[in-house]
Amino acid sequence: MGEKITFSHGRLQVPNNPIIPFIEGDGVGKEIWQAAQTIFDKAIEKAYKGQRQVSWHEVLAGEKAFNVTGSWLPEETMQAFQSYLVGIKGPLMTPVGGGIRSLNVALRQALDLYVCLRPVRWFRGVETPIKQPENVNMTIFRENTEDIYAGIEWMQGTPEVKKLYQFLSTEMAVTKIRFPETSSLAIKPVSIEGSERLIRAAIKFAINHRLPSVTLVHKGNIMKFTEGGFKLWGYALAEREFATKTFTMQQYEQIRKDTDKAQADHALLEAQKAGKVVIKDVIADAFLQNTLLKPADYSVIATLNLNGDYISDQLAAMVGGIGIAPGANINYLTGHAIFEATHGTAPDIAGKDQANPSSLLLSGVMLFDYLGWTKVGQLITTAMEKLFQQQKATIDLARFMPNGQTLSTQAFTHALIEAM
Ligand code: NAD
Repeated sequence: MGEKITFSHGRLQVPNNPIIPFIEGDGVGKEIWQAAQTIFDKAIEKAYKGQRQVSWHEVLAGEKAFNVTGSWLPEETMQAFQSYLVGIKGPLMTPVGGGIRSLNVALRQALDLYVCLRPVRWFRGVETPIKQPENVNMTIFRENTEDIYAGIEWMQGTPEVKKLYQFLSTEMAVTKIRFPETSSLAIKPVSIEGSERLIRAAIKFAINHRLPSVTLVHKGNIMKFTEGGFKLWGYALAEREFATKTFTMQQYEQIRKDTDKAQADHALLEAQKAGKVVIKDVIADAFLQNTLLKPADYSVIATLNLNGDYISDQLAAMVGGIGIAPGANINYLTGHAIFEATHGTAPDIAGKDQANPSSLLLSGVMLFDYLGWTKVGQLITTAMEKLFQQQKATIDLARFMPNGQTLSTQAFTHALIEAM
């Protein structure tokens, strides 16, 4: 039973009974997957009264795969994600000492999942380290394939690094390496194509969800051709491809130069009134400050790989921790997407019926939104809002709530289904 999700004319075609592959995950993966699947199925049933149903298809990866097949990431698993397009996964143990560097990275690279998507919002009732967490509501588009993360680096002292230094100093007249004898070297590729496809996805997302702005976060003041390029190419893309739907701060600056500030402010206000998405940029360090000082200024964020890594975790911590932060890795050009819990395997609490399934649940909410089954996500998030407001949560969150009531994973699952 079940049919394949397909992709044509730039859109997903989703049957009423799609086959969706899942990786249960290691450590707490089994517990949180069981919780999540039960909740997903109940929510779909309630939303679509039996007209829609998912055929969940288990594929193996991580420790479970290694024990059963001898491989950490079997070929069948790669093929399932390749062929069924959309999948979901729990946390995977990173095998230590040789073999695959990271299973997550391998999946991302094989399917060229160039967007790492991280929505960040606060749930009333969840304790946070900031005063007005209700002002934090952002969606981060982190570039997933380039930047210093490309892994092009050489250890100091190796023949390779000597060769590279030789080339740099003799042919490129580089004199700025302070300690050439003991420097490791790395290369940071940032391309027009890679930046544009990421920024394009962020702008489309803002337009489709009627969000007020896209902010390009970069360190272009220091890294002028890589991070600075990202900013320039982003503005150019907005003005070229989304001229009628966006207003850029570059246009604002031009009006200010040509006339005065009042005229520029007026143009900005008019654009906002017309529902245009404002495209702006900010230096990454200032952005991190601003997320604490004036988070309401930001909505959709488009950024490079390394900045995105720091930003995702800081914002997650600001709304109550990585335990509830969901994520997805997406290629909008082929439709391929893998939704995932963002935390690890939590070996310290595995098998104890204590794990919080919220990160995986919310990544499922993203998955159903991606399929266009938005009612499912609404049911689940509303139920979660209710439980957290009643101070009911698993121990990781409940212990910080003033009147926190600790529920086991299973009790939380039942309470959430009741609340739906
Ligand atoms: P971790 O996220 O597993 O644990 C950090 C802390 O958070 C622990 O105290 C843990 O109990 C707690 N925690 C995590 N998830 C929780 C949940 N759902 N509910 C309640 N508490 C939760 O990070 P780690 O200990 O650094 O890593 C353990 C393993 O997970 C490593 O093998 C690592 O490589 C892997 N890992 C995988 C992913 C992934 O698959 N996406 C991400 C991070 C780490």
